Amino acid sequence: TLSGKRAVVTGSNSGIGLGVAEALAAAGAEVILNSFTDRPEDHALAAELGARHGVPVRYIPADMSKGAECRALVEKAGGCDILVNNAGIQFVCAVEEFPVEKWDAILAINLSSAFHTTAAALPGMRAKGWGRIVNVASAHGLTASPFKSAYVAAKHGVVGLTKTVALEVAGQGITCNAICPGYVLTPLVEAQIPEQMKVHNMDRETVIREVMLQRQPSRQFATVEQIGGTAVYLCSPAADQVTGTTISVDGGWTAL
Ligand code: NAD
Repeated sequence: TLSGKRAVVTGSNSGIGLGVAEALAAAGAEVILNSFTDRPEDHALAAELGARHGVPVRYIPADMSKGAECRALVEKAGGCDILVNNAGIQFVCAVEEFPVEKWDAILAINLSSAFHTTAAALPGMRAKGWGRIVNVASAHGLTASPFKSAYVAAKHGVVGLTKTVALEVAGQGITCNAICPGYVLTPLVEAQIPEQMKVHNMDRETVIREVMLQRQPSRQFATVEQIGGTAVYLCSPAADQVTGTTISVDGGWTAL
């Protein structure tokens, strides 16, 4: 059980972040949800999640593209025992056409945010002699695809940051690992299906199997529940000596 532990999950009002938040709350952790918006529905989502699992859940807005806001998120939470760096965006374009502002935004949100939140969270973890840092990287943290230069560079960077932080905290009761999902059916991915159906002139099932999951040998999406379960495992005593590594949840993608 994670009762008595406080978890900050960045980018968690949707998709994988919300799935991880749900799994941590179900395991008894206090949870801080986050995104860059500050709408009534964001706070309502936190209240609903907390009520369902009987744990305190707060929503704290902070823009993960800004270093100072990343650090302020951890401070406003009151520190954290579990830090899940999940916020991320994607943009697809040939490298020589890649818009500079998109490159900068992807590097900031997908990579630098984890540097800032980790730096802010570590002193509190060290003081308690316990901490778990879980970075949501990607199969694209271990392999590449054309036209995804910023995303692939940022996610490889997350894997490098994960290993480095793990070495700096080794033996202090703190672990740092990366989860590398393959394709997960989140609202982000769901939104791409109609466009892909049109482009390839295929029905939904065929475009999912033959196009979207072409590199995922299982030909099945991973689920946000499975990513949540992996995060809970990394926070459990069974994973006390699991550090500085990656766990792929990708239906065999990186085995190819
Ligand atoms: P999503 O769009 O559903 O979720 C992204 C979350 O990040 C949202 O809550 C969004 O509000 C938040 N976010 C975006 N910009 C932000 C900012 N500037 N500040 C704070 N929050 C911000 O997408 P998802 O698929 O759930 O992706 C979550 C993470 O998982 C990302 O890091 C993504 O790269 C990674 N991932 C996703 C897949 C997949 O197939 N869906 C596969 C591998 C890795």
